[in-house]
Amino acid sequence: MWQGRSLWAEIDLDAIACNARELKKRTGGNSRLLAVVKANAYGHGAVMAARAAAEAGAEYLGVACADEGAELRLAGVSLPILVMGYVAPWEADKVVTHGLTPTLTTRQLALALAALAAQRKLVVPVHIKVDTGMNRFGLAPRDTAFFAQFVRTLPGLKAEGVYTHFAVADEADKTFTREQFRTFIDTAEGMPWIPCRHVANSATILDMPEMCLEMVRPGISLYGAYPSRQVQRSIKLKPALSLKSRVARLHDLTPGESVSYGRTWVADKPTRVALVPCGYADGMLRCLSNKGSVLVRGQRAPIRGRICMDQFMVDVGHIPRVRADDEVVLIGRQQDEEITAEEVAGLAGTISYEIFCGISPRVPRVYLKGGEVVAVETLVEKVEYSAS
Ligand SMILES: *Cc1c(COP(=O)(O)O)cnc(C)c1O
Repeated sequence: MWQGRSLWAEIDLDAIACNARELKKRTGGNSRLLAVVKANAYGHGAVMAARAAAEAGAEYLGVACADEGAELRLAGVSLPILVMGYVAPWEADKVVTHGLTPTLTTRQLALALAALAAQRKLVVPVHIKVDTGMNRFGLAPRDTAFFAQFVRTLPGLKAEGVYTHFAVADEADKTFTREQFRTFIDTAEGMPWIPCRHVANSATILDMPEMCLEMVRPGISLYGAYPSRQVQRSIKLKPALSLKSRVARLHDLTPGESVSYGRTWVADKPTRVALVPCGYADGMLRCLSNKGSVLVRGQRAPIRGRICMDQFMVDVGHIPRVRADDEVVLIGRQQDEEITAEEVAGLAGTISYEIFCGISPRVPRVYLKGGEVVAVETLVEKVEYSAS
């Protein structure tokens, strides 16, 4: 087993592959799968997650900005990559050089791409985004047909997709989502030459598979978490990420002794605390101070005192035989206990997405396949092991 910093994220690539296959099945097998790997694949490692999804049948990747797409290309990823967020016109060169598929919503970008396409004698695929009610990004439905027609007149561009994004697909009441879907379908009907329509994020695939169309865009579900508590557990997802650490120090407290900055926790009886070398700079939210717990020897050890930038303390007074270097699980399973990212998010007043994305580059990523370590990424090394 890999040994390094006493804090690491284990990413089970088989879980990502398995989730990708289940999601594909849920679409009826008729929709192409675009694996959303933005934000370093929600903290899971964009390159490795992209490869795992590709091996499981993903045909497209989705990122938020052109730089994320370029990162994948530089690592040798060859699937088409849709940049789902705003791309400024001066980023056109990066888009074309790295063979990315931008989301088009402005004439400025369209013209910049068309000029480069003419120069380099190639065709740039683009997707057009319609804003059907999120009021975030995309063209107003009434402007979309005109814009699509304009794009059609530019020889270097090929509009291969049109899409929208839902505001409340993860809530129980689907009324607004059905309205957004209807608006989208009506808008897309005005541009029948665009072959690929897509609207479905994870919540939509799980709850409304009838909206899967030609392509789907799952993110959080690929990584094994449900988008919200309201979403049906219509397929079984496997959590891919575990966040683990090791006990760095043990020491005993007498009643009246306090722990950490601000002295917000004071022992009321003799107990023992363990130091966990993980802090808010690693993604352990400071608002979990004196809340939440971790797993040590298969039992819950409550967080005591404030979480610091690089470390925090837990109470292990009730857990027998705890030793220095014992494994600590912050997210994941240990023996019969499990702490999910959803549980941590609930305590912190946020969503699992933010917990995953918050796991910083300082935390080594250890990638597993068939239970074996196949790759490790730390601040100072990037190693791949060939399968034995
Ligand atoms: C992030 C994102 C997704 C994925 O959403 P999940 O809820 O994680 O499945 C899909 N589409 C767009 C446009 C996104 O920005």
